[in-house]
Amino acid sequence: GCRVRFAPSPTGNLHVGGARTALFNYLFAKSTGGKFILRVEDTDLERSTRQSEEAMIRDLQWLGLEWDEGPDIGGEYGPYRQSERNEIYQQYVEKLLKSGNVYRCFCSDEELEAMRAECKAKNLPPKYMGKWGTASDAEVEAELAKGTPFTYRFRVPQEGSVTINDLIRGEVSWNQDTLGDFVVLRSNGQPVYNFCVAVDDATMKITHVIRAEEHLPNTLRQALIYKALGFKMPQFGHVSLILAPDRSKLSKRHGATSIGQFKELGYLPAAMINYLVLLGWNDGSEEEIFTVQQLIEKFSIDRITKSAAIFDLVKLGWMNGQHLRSLPVEEISKMFGEQWLRAGLVSRSEGPFIDEGAVLLKNGTDIVSDSEESLKQLLAYPLHSTLESHQAKEFVDDNLKEVADAVLAAYDSGNLQTAIDGGHDTWKKWVNGVGKALKRKGKRLFMPVRIVLTGRMQGPDIGSTLALLKEGQTSGVVTPEAG
Ligand code: GLU
Repeated sequence: GCRVRFAPSPTGNLHVGGARTALFNYLFAKSTGGKFILRVEDTDLERSTRQSEEAMIRDLQWLGLEWDEGPDIGGEYGPYRQSERNEIYQQYVEKLLKSGNVYRCFCSDEELEAMRAECKAKNLPPKYMGKWGTASDAEVEAELAKGTPFTYRFRVPQEGSVTINDLIRGEVSWNQDTLGDFVVLRSNGQPVYNFCVAVDDATMKITHVIRAEEHLPNTLRQALIYKALGFKMPQFGHVSLILAPDRSKLSKRHGATSIGQFKELGYLPAAMINYLVLLGWNDGSEEEIFTVQQLIEKFSIDRITKSAAIFDLVKLGWMNGQHLRSLPVEEISKMFGEQWLRAGLVSRSEGPFIDEGAVLLKNGTDIVSDSEESLKQLLAYPLHSTLESHQAKEFVDDNLKEVADAVLAAYDSGNLQTAIDGGHDTWKKWVNGVGKALKRKGKRLFMPVRIVLTGRMQGPDIGSTLALLKEGQTSGVVTPEAG
């Protein structure tokens, strides 16, 4: 079967770009009955941290992208952390040394610097021009005997070219003479990134390398290493960039970009997955809302687009709303309740007030964290203050005044309270009574009532809202600060 990998460098947070790469690999594995492998690329020891690795693992798990082999669970082809694979890299360097594909290079930093300067002066791309590619055994032995530090350098055949048939970009070729001999193992024993990737992909029996476009240039080096080691090349698919709506590079100033941030804000993993997959993939129809299970059934790599994708928070919010509202209301209630409790709006995260509030507010709320603002607005309905200050307020609209007078009269007489206390049906009866008296119905009745009571032109059903506010008052679940 297919074997694919997600190979993050643990040098920061998991961002939407990385998560999308992981998702494409995951879906490819699941849709072909293959294996999805997590490999941690921590060759950059200075910038890599275990903390970042752990956070990435948490975020991937939150998204539900479970792997079959990885640093945390092991597997047949481990270890799955590059920093633990040094022996393997040494072994393959030895092999390449024997076959003559790598050689020891004893050039000092100064010599290398001089070469770079010379290339620059001649307007040539920087290439190794030192003597060690053609040195005799005796010369090498002499340096070894002196204990001169050395690197292992890969010999790039200057004739020929490498061509890949990229699954997304089609045919891509490089002339080998664009590349000089490059280091695969540093003098301190540290293997170089591209060497590790090639050795890992080969020894982990990766069949398809699906990764970001920025790694396309690395493919030439990796392919040469593959060839020299006699491994069968995997198939490559380089996925295009994700850009901000202004087509600039996606960055912090465009808002949340890391999976951890979205998690914090209460986005749903199912919505994230759905949104991420559409960044560069579609199923060929107009359909946009998919569950993971549907994606596994529908995913195919040849529907990944070549053009850059645009990350649009508005669209993501909308999509999150679609997924949120498709959940059982008990789940929505649980999430809203916890959000409201965290925000200090309520004293308990469950109960009738929370349940009714969730039912009432879910339609105008796309993201769990927005439920905070939704409830705040509702609690701030100027029910009493609007009515009390009604006389002083100038209702420019006579239309509104007529209804406001009726509501105010009912308020003064206590009828309004009775209507609210009686629950939804009583309330409805009362409003219809007002309508009859004033010869109004439909929007001409309900809109003014809404405006007079809430000060707003939109919102959830007034009867239910009033009942909820009442529930909040009597149960005492609404904290004083919240009102
Ligand atoms: N470690 C690389 C990154 O985090 C991925 C390399 C690859 O997929 O080949 O961007």
